[in-house]
Amino acid sequence: MRFSKLRLTGFKSFVDPTDLLIQEGLTGVVGPNGCGKSNLLEALRWVMGENRPTAMRGGGMEDVIFAGASSRPARNFAEVALSLDNSERLAPAGFNDTDALEITRRITRDVGSAYRLNGKEVRARDVQMLFADAATGSHSPALVRQGQISELINAKPKSRRRVLEDAAGIGGLYQRRHEAELK
Ligand code: ATP
Ligand code: MG
Repeated sequence: MRFSKLRLTGFKSFVDPTDLLIQEGLTGVVGPNGCGKSNLLEALRWVMGENRPTAMRGGGMEDVIFAGASSRPARNFAEVALSLDNSERLAPAGFNDTDALEITRRITRDVGSAYRLNGKEVRARDVQMLFADAATGSHSPALVRQGQISELINAKPKSRRRVLEDAAGIGGLYQRRHEAELK
């Protein structure tokens, strides 16, 4: 599976439908401060099922909807569509019928989020399952938040070690040892 396109409509600063083609060789997105680079990464995380408003730098999930600007009224919904190239049929079982997959998440004010997979309504859980085996998804360590690197550099040695242990997949061991020490 390969990300091939991200389409944003009414999502944060992307009020008009905007396509980001994710072609092979794409290594960076550059632009002046505030132009929406971090919003793109947040859109990617959001369409894969992120449910913590704080991860979207908001107080509530509806904060991802375009809030209006001096010349443009606020929108009522935000939508992000993620296209995946599945021509190599690497999607998990149950998702492998088609060459292309499109996941859409839409949030409507006072209604909440709805997800679609190739146009058919699905649950958030189904979308999360699609990415569960792919070492990606909204919580993937491959998605590094702005500021996360400096947080790591400035972290106390103990919390920095926890990050490394999680990356090495031994976070669970630490937890069990802690429990054993309490006994
Ligand atoms: P930097 O280089 O400083 O990291 P950036 O390119 O990552 O900047 P973003 O943080 O992605 O920029 O975008 C910030 C812009 O998005 C701000 O102008 C902010 O007003 C706008 N924005 C965020 N949420 C909304 C919203 N709900 N409605 C309208 N605009 C929004
Ligand atoms: Mg940024």
